[in-house]
Amino acid sequence: MIYKKNNLRIDGFDVGYLGRKYKTPIYCYSLKKINNNIRNLKTYFKKINPLICYAVKANTNLRILKEIKNNNLGADVVSKGELMKALKAGIKPQNIVFSGVGKTSEEIKFAINKKILLINAESKSEILEIEKIARSKKKSVNIGIRLNPNTDAKTLSQISTGKKENKFGVDQKIFLQLVEYLKKSKYLNLKCLSVHIGSQILEYKPYENMLKVVDRIIKKSNYKFEYIDLGGGMGIDYNHNNSKLDLQKYSKNIQKFLKKKSCKIIFEPGRYIVGNSAILITKIIYIKEGYNKDFVILDAAMNDLIRPALYGAHHRFLPSKKTKKLAKKAYEFVGPICESTDTFTVIKKYQKLNEKDFLVICDVGAYGTSLASNYNVRPKPIEILIKGSKIQIINKRQKISELM
Ligand SMILES: *Cc1c(COP(=O)(O)O)cnc(C)c1O
Repeated sequence: MIYKKNNLRIDGFDVGYLGRKYKTPIYCYSLKKINNNIRNLKTYFKKINPLICYAVKANTNLRILKEIKNNNLGADVVSKGELMKALKAGIKPQNIVFSGVGKTSEEIKFAINKKILLINAESKSEILEIEKIARSKKKSVNIGIRLNPNTDAKTLSQISTGKKENKFGVDQKIFLQLVEYLKKSKYLNLKCLSVHIGSQILEYKPYENMLKVVDRIIKKSNYKFEYIDLGGGMGIDYNHNNSKLDLQKYSKNIQKFLKKKSCKIIFEPGRYIVGNSAILITKIIYIKEGYNKDFVILDAAMNDLIRPALYGAHHRFLPSKKTKKLAKKAYEFVGPICESTDTFTVIKKYQKLNEKDFLVICDVGAYGTSLASNYNVRPKPIEILIKGSKIQIINKRQKISELM
């Protein structure tokens, strides 16, 4: 994303040109960014040689999944639908793990039939259900147990998952009981210990604490796990102020953790791989004068990108044309939906904007389209992918007629 003669460009394409050509709102992805992010992860964790399972829920576009598969990644799925999509994208079953607190028996049967790498169970009841199904099929099934390490991820409370009050995983006491139970199970092979403490983690310390807890419980369990699944959660720099997770330190810490252990590490990153790979191009419908600020009413709304409304998340806003003239009042960027939470951000000092201008909402590749809805009977946006010097439409704009 650079300005050339004051016009914003993404991978060489003028944002205004894209807005006029495809009409707004547009989710526009950069393949270069996705490939770069994956390369970065592989480089940081080279010495660990992990199995990287992309968390499909971050972005479920089939064409994006195929590009991720082309980088030889596996998948972390949380529903039958995601599992089917991962398989359809060509991701091998032996590189797929299945997470989630509420897998139904239908989902478990499907996963067993597809011979995926691991079902990471999150409760005693789920383990008993998997065992029942395995027995009836006379199949042995590889599973993991998700531990709730009671670690504060120091992220937004809404996307924190590893504290004892969260619904995810089992506590240490139950974990140890389940290990004992599974040592004797005829149909279940306990292969993995999994954890995932939250999302958009920028501090390295929570991971260090998590590793300590995992190390302790492995010793206590007196069991040899073939896989340790450390989950995802690696944060990205939404504000562009160099707040970055120190992956090098994390990697070193894992290497230390792995000494005297011979297990394979699994990661489940979602946001890190796709988060900064997309922008949402939107057009200003109206600018409306307010009391102490003006409202910039966009054609993109909370149904297209719900993160600000859902978690108070912040995304940068860039004008497609840069000018020097400042607006007299603060701007509040809002969507047209009939909800007061349909607002993206307030910016005190911004360049003067005009109706019909294009704007770009940055870093929307993760939990953007995958959380989009048809609220207010609004069709979902078109999705395009920049692949070198070419543009592919990877999802057509929904038609209102499809919503009738
Ligand atoms: C959501 C989720 C992830 C991915 O989280 P990111 O923050 O996008 O990396 C990984 N594992 C599990 C179990 C999840 O629920």
